[in-house]
Amino acid sequence: MRIAVLSDVHANLAALSAVVAATADCDARWCLGDVVGYGPQPNECAALVRESCEIVLAGNHDLAAAGRADTLVFSRDAGRAMRWTREVLEPGVEAWLASLEPAAVVGRVGLYHGSPRDPVWEYILDPEAARAALQATTHDLVLVGHTHTALVARLDHDGRLTGRRGVEGLEIDLMGPRTLVNPGSVGQPRDGDARAAYVVLELDGDGVPLTLRFARAEYAIERTQQAIVTAGLPEHLADRLSFGM
Ligand code: ZN
Repeated sequence: MRIAVLSDVHANLAALSAVVAATADCDARWCLGDVVGYGPQPNECAALVRESCEIVLAGNHDLAAAGRADTLVFSRDAGRAMRWTREVLEPGVEAWLASLEPAAVVGRVGLYHGSPRDPVWEYILDPEAARAALQATTHDLVLVGHTHTALVARLDHDGRLTGRRGVEGLEIDLMGPRTLVNPGSVGQPRDGDARAAYVVLELDGDGVPLTLRFARAEYAIERTQQAIVTAGLPEHLADRLSFGM
């Protein structure tokens, strides 16, 4: 069974559409949260995620949009975009976002927006956070989003942690050490590659993780940038998409 794992769509419809098209041959899609926030098409992205993903987690932006999380910790631009998002959000979309949870378990795979210790807010950006996340669970594979940075970290039986960036085409054999993976962000990558990020996960018939491959999809960045400007959102949120940061 092949599963496309994606995260942090952030209301970027062109990027999401490219990833959905690129993963048309997958058996299912899982979304690790932050469907909305920052970007200009929250309602459209919510509709497409709802119809194309079997599992959808809540991210901190989704919970904020649904009135379930505080926006005080948001950066200035994120806060401005969230106020705009709450104004334009359709009631049905708000209710759907409010119904989502930030964590899920599927067989031997744990899914979290942030981390196992704090599914909504913790950023796994360094080796110690990755180690703590793996030690907090017994899953063979831990999937997280939230940082917008594709990475893989592995913890072997001797307690040795190895990690690397999830560059396009990198394939991981999951039969060895326990593994933590962030697929990167669909709609606002921050790892220097402006293309939409995702991973393709292969499970066997019993749900045991076999392999995982990091992938990128090109999309019409200028379409989203134009929509950001038209919506009156901060222009910095358009500019950063060109650089993947
Ligand atoms: Zn995010």
